[in-house]
Amino acid sequence: MKRLITLLLCGLMMLAGCASQPTTTPDPVAKMTPGTYTSVGTGFKGDITVDVTVTEDAITEIKVVDAHETYGIGEAAMPVMIEHMLEYQTYSVDLVSGATVTSAGFRTAVKDALTQAGADMSKFGANPVKGDKTEETIDCDIVVVGAGGSGMMAAYYAAKEGFNVVIIEKTPLVGGASAMAGGSMLGTDSDWQDELGYEDSVEALKERLMAQGHYQNDEATVDLYMSFLAANFNWIVAEDGGAMPYKKTGTGSTFSMDGSGTGVMQTLKGKMLDAGATLYTSTKAEELIVEDGAVVGVKASGEKVNYTINADAVILATGGYGHNRDIVPEEYLTLYRYSGHSGHDGDALTMIEAVDGATRNIPWVNRAVHSMILPSGAPQYTNMGYVVFNKMSGILINQDGERIGAEVGNDWALLAAMAENERHYLLMDQENYDAFNSGMSGRGIFNADDPAKWTAEDYTGQPFYKKGNTLEELAAKIDVPAEAMQATIDKFNATVNSGATVDEYGRPLNTTIAEDGPYYALEMSVRYSTSLGGICINDNMQVLNTAGEAVKGLYAAGEVVGGAQGDLYLPSSTFTWAMTSGVQAGKVVTADLSK
Ligand SMILES: Cc1cc2nc3c(=O)[nH]c(=O)nc-3n(C[C@H](O)[C@H](O)[C@H](O)COP(=O)(O)OP(=O)(O)OC[C@H]3O[C@@H](n4cnc5c(N)ncnc54)[C@H](O)[C@@H]3O)c2cc1C
Repeated sequence: MKRLITLLLCGLMMLAGCASQPTTTPDPVAKMTPGTYTSVGTGFKGDITVDVTVTEDAITEIKVVDAHETYGIGEAAMPVMIEHMLEYQTYSVDLVSGATVTSAGFRTAVKDALTQAGADMSKFGANPVKGDKTEETIDCDIVVVGAGGSGMMAAYYAAKEGFNVVIIEKTPLVGGASAMAGGSMLGTDSDWQDELGYEDSVEALKERLMAQGHYQNDEATVDLYMSFLAANFNWIVAEDGGAMPYKKTGTGSTFSMDGSGTGVMQTLKGKMLDAGATLYTSTKAEELIVEDGAVVGVKASGEKVNYTINADAVILATGGYGHNRDIVPEEYLTLYRYSGHSGHDGDALTMIEAVDGATRNIPWVNRAVHSMILPSGAPQYTNMGYVVFNKMSGILINQDGERIGAEVGNDWALLAAMAENERHYLLMDQENYDAFNSGMSGRGIFNADDPAKWTAEDYTGQPFYKKGNTLEELAAKIDVPAEAMQATIDKFNATVNSGATVDEYGRPLNTTIAEDGPYYALEMSVRYSTSLGGICINDNMQVLNTAGEAVKGLYAAGEVVGGAQGDLYLPSSTFTWAMTSGVQAGKVVTADLSK
């Protein structure tokens, strides 16, 4: 194993003494009034309250006094920003990719506090002045690009096998989109499923994946997935393997862990570092280093250092391209809101051009129904509320007051139904409203008292959530014909009262919609977070060029690979693909390097 880190400070900068570069604009015009100022910004999950302490000339302390941001994402972004704000003495530091809504709300709160202090914004609101970068060369066995689920799994596996692994992540936080997902994993054909007696097979799962993706999947990639799924799931959960704390309970086809995707990622990060991998955050891979057609490393840019990372193998695990507005078609951008990770810019797609790398199914993205808009403007999936409410009598209606139907059908059916209409509302009576909100607040998506704020008469922001003491009052607020809404409710109730257990849309029937108000309507939308196309690989996880040949030294795992999914993904299957393909990349690369 080689471990050699060479620091090459550029001569010019050494002579100039680059460490003494000024970090702020000198000489503020006005003095601040010393003290501690409190301010509030809007985060992803509600208010962020900050205390900012200043002297006449400097920001000395920034504290988050109250916030409910997501563990490992928004919660982890604020300390990063505080460090930068104190270092550069300005509120105007970069937003943290992957936690942009929290970052923007937090930055606004600090700005407001500084305004209260009478800060001169030509100094305390200036862009940070960063010094020139140094140059550094790192030699390692394996460099992994992207510290999300697939990348950290690959790095963890390889580091545990004793290899010298460097993993670079362009954002300040690890986890990527994997930290934003539910975190459940399919365990089809695994030891756990066998022990629990759950009947499933990779053949059946393959059929479900292909059917969900309208057979647009690449069959060879699906077969590859099916070939390693059980073995790699077994490794991930085994005490003498990855020992990830999944729950071995229930008899379903998926296994979950406390703390969702973000909890999984924080645990994985700890295990990966304990195994000996070296992590560089805020370090973006810019290009592949190619020699005689083989990939022998990457060039990367950090905040203060440019790196040349020489390696025997490179694993691309950069996630998707959903955040790249040059790749995602204009029609998607206008119809759907992006709810994915802001690091998903498709960087690897550009990087593989150096080796004539092949791709497929670009620019497909996975569209997801059941979304509401949060006050921050971010779309949020509502399944945890929707599932509860759907067992009751909430229905989906359109702008004409007609039932959309397909409320419990698969995403594809509802997507098609929604595409035919301009607007869509969840129509709820009091009981449905209570159940929906408790499902959402119970999972920490919003606070229990938020819906009362949003449905108040004077509320004008997002979400568009309206209350009417009568159906007529609600109809007027959402601009839907009241008679049509009444007719829709009457028809639904008549079907329930007829004793039918399922209606014309396949919706199980339990209870009627209340005859009297209040009634509520929540506007629903379609979002996308995950891309479906990507790099072509062979069954050794190696990147293929357009001639179908494997590129020596270059491997890929996770969402950056195209073809495991078709035009829609099966729930839990992309997260499982990320985790198990990451292990697979670790396995094949360490095997190849051991030859
Ligand atoms: C909100 C949300 C909910 C989801 N829910 C589900 C679900 O319920 N079930 C399911 O199966 N799937 C779900 N998914 C999809 C699934 O989580 C992802 O497909 C999967 O986790 C992606 O893993 P990954 O390792 O490929 O990418 P990521 O976990 O995103 O990791 C990629 C990392 O690479 C970094 N990176 C990118 N470019 C560079 C570069 N040039 N240099 C260095 N680093 C770089 C990124 O910043 C990122 O951190 C969801 C996704 C989102 C966003």
